[in-house]
Amino acid sequence: MTTIADTTIITTTDTSTMTIKPGVSPYTVELTPPDIAPYRQGNTGIDYITTFDSGKPGPHLMVNAVTHGNELCGALAVDRLFKMNVRPKQGKLSLSFANVEALSRFDRNLPHASRFVDEDFNRVWSPETLDGPRQSVELSRARAMRPIIDQVDFLLDIHSMHDPHGPVMISGPLAKGIALAKLVGVPEFIVADAGHANGTRMRDYGGFGNADSHKAALLVECGQHWERAAEALAWQSTWRFLRALDAVDNDLAAAQIDHAGQPVQKVVRVTDALIASSLDYKFAPGLKGLSIVPNAGDLIATDAGKPVNAPYDNCVLIMPTLVHVKPGLTAVRIGRVE
Ligand SMILES: [Zn+2]
Repeated sequence: MTTIADTTIITTTDTSTMTIKPGVSPYTVELTPPDIAPYRQGNTGIDYITTFDSGKPGPHLMVNAVTHGNELCGALAVDRLFKMNVRPKQGKLSLSFANVEALSRFDRNLPHASRFVDEDFNRVWSPETLDGPRQSVELSRARAMRPIIDQVDFLLDIHSMHDPHGPVMISGPLAKGIALAKLVGVPEFIVADAGHANGTRMRDYGGFGNADSHKAALLVECGQHWERAAEALAWQSTWRFLRALDAVDNDLAAAQIDHAGQPVQKVVRVTDALIASSLDYKFAPGLKGLSIVPNAGDLIATDAGKPVNAPYDNCVLIMPTLVHVKPGLTAVRIGRVE
């Protein structure tokens, strides 16, 4: 999801930093994008979105991939659903590839470069922006997708992360999102957050972000963009999502789900974004994404030599930029285990 230095600064887990060519990654690209050309036509009138209708009453589910064009695990999961001919047993199931223009530019030698074309697709989902005058590749796609997103009751939006980090389910701030994340059952960490100041995510759009609506959406961050483990988590979360909402045949779902992989889940309520005030922002030794800082007052980081301390017990670090934080930007979001 959000990354601060997507194209110019690469973060490593040791103490070195590298400023390298935009788009180049130090991480191994283990995944290969599927050929999605066969799914362009679809049946909805919107390219790369296909809706299967059971003909029976029930909710409309969507499994959506490539909101960010270089996040391959979701595309692989949706491609597999198509190839398995998965159909809903009630209601409707839509399979979707969102930022197909960015995906089409994916280059494994410059894998960071195809996150988006003009702007972040996942920051344009407010009515003001969608109805406004601005134009971009991503806004055009969001505007094209909007009529079907308006019909979706339950959305799983599959993502991955810039740097190595354990998987997290982004539930949004509302109880209904957290409840759905618990029904899905993976991954271990559920992150309840209010989104980003610089634009609205698809998972917060319309009824998904309205406590009075029955609709709900989840955004799963499956791991580092190109690691095999992210593909596996995308598959598991997809099938658990379909099963949780009773959308598919139980035996079919059971055959796909890794039943040994059910963690005890933790809900982390995001409380703050810690903003760096200097380039000299260093996390305390051993801390990384999903580290739990046990006690209020414990050191999280130093910022130009000044301590940054945990404001409360069991403070969880979410997607820290471990090295080379930029002044004025978020170094890490922190949350409280509920
Ligand atoms: Zn993403």
